[in-house]
Amino acid sequence: MQKISLVIPVYNEEQSLPALFERTFSALDKLSRPYEVIFINDGSKDKSIDLLREIYAKRPQQVRIIDFNGNFGQHMAIVAGFAKVSGDMVITMDADLQNPPEEIGRMVAEFEKGHDVVGTIRENRDDSFYRKFCSKIVNIITNKITGLNIHDYGCMLRLYSRGIADVIAHSEEGTTFIPAFAQKFASSPTEIFISHSRREKGVSKYSFFRLVSLNFDLMTNFSQVPLQFITLSGMIISALSLFLAVILFIRRLVIGPEEGGLFTLFAIQFFLTGFLISSVGIVGEYIGRISKEVRKRPKYVIRKEYGTGNE
Ligand code: UDP
Ligand code: MG
Repeated sequence: MQKISLVIPVYNEEQSLPALFERTFSALDKLSRPYEVIFINDGSKDKSIDLLREIYAKRPQQVRIIDFNGNFGQHMAIVAGFAKVSGDMVITMDADLQNPPEEIGRMVAEFEKGHDVVGTIRENRDDSFYRKFCSKIVNIITNKITGLNIHDYGCMLRLYSRGIADVIAHSEEGTTFIPAFAQKFASSPTEIFISHSRREKGVSKYSFFRLVSLNFDLMTNFSQVPLQFITLSGMIISALSLFLAVILFIRRLVIGPEEGGLFTLFAIQFFLTGFLISSVGIVGEYIGRISKEVRKRPKYVIRKEYGTGNE
């Protein structure tokens, strides 16, 4: 029987945790196969860690806890979890029960058909109009720019083969958007529809600003297209103004001097502006690559572990 590792990031979720424990463990018990649940406490300031310790005391065989030294973000929490998994398949899930743990069985069935990544698409997504609208736009743009094909970037109930989880855990990158990363390295990804409900307890941990910055990570980490767009626009501007300059030069020869050369000045000015923009774009490409390489900061700092063999 292949083992399931469920990875759940937790940030100030004291209100959701009791229901999460109840539904998740009963769903996993029903599958009657070996499993472990790895909770990562991402610097919660509420009682989350106490509740996690309680469930660890009750189920030391299945529960593991990684307690972070601060808030490193949902995706880094998942990376830390991936580094400790012992299962054959690794499933990520949010702690707020917006995606039902009862769907895990269906994802496992897809894995057993031979898929190494099982993504999910939220059916009847129950979120605010504003969140749904933004997600739609982000999904379209991101797929275009990154060349990936994921229908719902925001849904974090996903399954990865152990091999893919290992690749992600050992990646040197300082910022990671897990679903995109996995899609890039998957050999046989698939997607299934799952149900979705409104967050019942607690509030979303993503402010508008955090959502924007998350999507910016996604763009810059998986594509150089934004930079190339700047460079290309600069080149097009240069080409157009060069064309204008040629026309003005011919007119000068044929018609003679006009308007004191003001338009020639424009042409030269536009050419230079275009050239400047494309230069900044090219420099930006280098800086982008270099800064990605040099920032070898620790991805997260662990305060204490429970049940992982490292405590
Ligand atoms: N989360 C986290 N660290 C953070 C932000 C969120 O570990 O800095 C966790 C959070 O506890 C939840 C999941 O990531 O389990 C998704 O967060 P949330 O439900 O607030 O996001 P939303 O559903 O609003 O996109
Ligand atoms: Mg949520």
